[in-house]
Amino acid sequence: MRRIGLIGGMSWESSAEYYRQINEGVRERLGGLHSAEILLRSVDFEPIERLQHAGEWEALGRRLAETALDLERGGAQGVLLCTNTMHKVADDISEAVSIPLLHIADATGERLRADGVRKVGLLGTAFTMEEPFYRRRLQERFDLEVLIPEAEERGTVHRVIYDELCMGVTREESRRAYEEIVSGLADRGAEAVILGCTEIALLIQEGAVPLYDTTAIHVQKGVEWMLADGRG
Ligand code: GLU
Repeated sequence: MRRIGLIGGMSWESSAEYYRQINEGVRERLGGLHSAEILLRSVDFEPIERLQHAGEWEALGRRLAETALDLERGGAQGVLLCTNTMHKVADDISEAVSIPLLHIADATGERLRADGVRKVGLLGTAFTMEEPFYRRRLQERFDLEVLIPEAEERGTVHRVIYDELCMGVTREESRRAYEEIVSGLADRGAEAVILGCTEIALLIQEGAVPLYDTTAIHVQKGVEWMLADGRG
């Protein structure tokens, strides 16, 4: 099997899910005591989050390119960046290493198209919902129409991610708020909603329309890639 490198810690609450789910995926496919060949390079999220909110994306790109290089030097053959938001600097990472970065939006777009979805809602951090790097990729590469919640709802989704989910907190009140936001997107015509932040599935798994959990989808893409060399 190919050895996967994870850039984690953003937040570690979801990186732990990646670690567990990749191992489960490999066990499911290979059986017995098989488990995944993984390198994990986990960062301290606090300074990262400060740079995000200060708009210091060049510095973030350099920092994550370094982490990807650490993984490549350590023997990783491919990389999963365990956050949607930080795919804003995906090109900086890809350019720094010679191993492939398996893009979370591509994995998600492929899945949606395979399921015949054309119009989809997107939940995530304000960066992911409002900036073009994620939506445009889904629109241009997968011909998806992407809807985002109204401004006030986006504020709620963003706040819950940073103040609760990334800190390991799940509140019933927040779950209800997310469910309502999903219903609103469904009322506007969304056939499905992307949980475009790797912690959201820790809060909700079901809604008015099918929910596409980017963590699970990204993991599955990673596992398929790891086992695609045919050598088990
Ligand atoms: N894990 C989250 C995501 O998928 C948010 C944390 C971050 O800003 O990286 O976007």
